[in-house]
Amino acid sequence: HAKERGRNNYQFFRPEMNARAGERLALENSLRGAVQRKEFVLFYQPQVEIRSGRLVGAEALIRWRRGDSGFVSPADFIPLAEETGTILEIGDWVLAEACRQQVQWDQQWPAMGLKPVPVAVNLSSLQFRQKHFKENLLDIVGDYPLPAGRIELELTESIVMEEPELVGAVLAELKQAGLRLSIDDFGTGYSSLSYLKRFPLDKLKIDASFVRDIVNDSADLAIVHAVVSLGHSLGLKVVAEGVEHEAELLILNAMGCDIAQGYHFCRPVPAEKFQAWVATYVPVPLRGGVPMPES
Ligand code: C2E
Ligand code: MG
Ligand code: MG
Ligand code: MG
Repeated sequence: HAKERGRNNYQFFRPEMNARAGERLALENSLRGAVQRKEFVLFYQPQVEIRSGRLVGAEALIRWRRGDSGFVSPADFIPLAEETGTILEIGDWVLAEACRQQVQWDQQWPAMGLKPVPVAVNLSSLQFRQKHFKENLLDIVGDYPLPAGRIELELTESIVMEEPELVGAVLAELKQAGLRLSIDDFGTGYSSLSYLKRFPLDKLKIDASFVRDIVNDSADLAIVHAVVSLGHSLGLKVVAEGVEHEAELLILNAMGCDIAQGYHFCRPVPAEKFQAWVATYVPVPLRGGVPMPES
């Protein structure tokens, strides 16, 4: 037994783990001050109304250009930024930058025959739990000459489930101020659905993990179908994330899913590339879909 334990202990102190801890510490250190060093960039990914093929929105996704080591994925630094609290500063920057970019597009796009669309930003639960979260958020948005309805906040199920009473009140005020609200990664978090009827939401975003194999996996198909029905019954638009191929799009259309986001249309790209995509995009309407309920 001692030998077993010894081996386990030895495994616990694997040198790779020290290396990983060191890497983590280095990442943590360079994350601090990255906002001031202007190392973050927002990429944009289009959201397309499935039936009409029209561009109806975009999601802003953060990218970190970390010195000479290239881009770091948000999946690698957002959790760390949440643990260290840096996410508060990053979150403020993301919101301000999304607003700034939209004001610029408002000034440039109409002359090019392009119509600006709402942009969604992702919120972390730490932001939501910070003191004066709502005031701070409305202050930032208020600094820009932009209708509040052009900003959408993507919340996760864990955010809204943490303190449903408090969150409900805050969301009601944000909604009142004109912001749009969506639930991101729907289906991957807590299973309670009661918040859906209590919170003033606009959209449900079905997580990509349910959409990916929709062509071959009948269980995924059933889940997506159920979420579309649920969303529509509650008066919400339903967005499918991670749509990579036309085959998925056709199935989603047949199920009456409202909006698609994914590589099939465009990967997340820098602002200039997004504008170029919008300028050349030709909507392809689809037939045979279930009519969308009004909302
Ligand atoms: P998310 O909000 O669910 O964003 C969707 C993710 O799916 C993005 O990953 C996007 O690049 C990716 N994606 C889009 N279409 C496809 C597709 O067709 N196939 C595949 N395989 N993936 C697709 P990304 O940009 O790496 O971001 C990962 C996560 O990091 C986001 O998931 C979000 O939770 C978080 N994140 C990104 N930007 C921010 C931010 O500004 N603030 C906060 N708090 N979190 C952010
Ligand atoms: Mg998101
Ligand atoms: Mg998502
Ligand atoms: Mg996510």
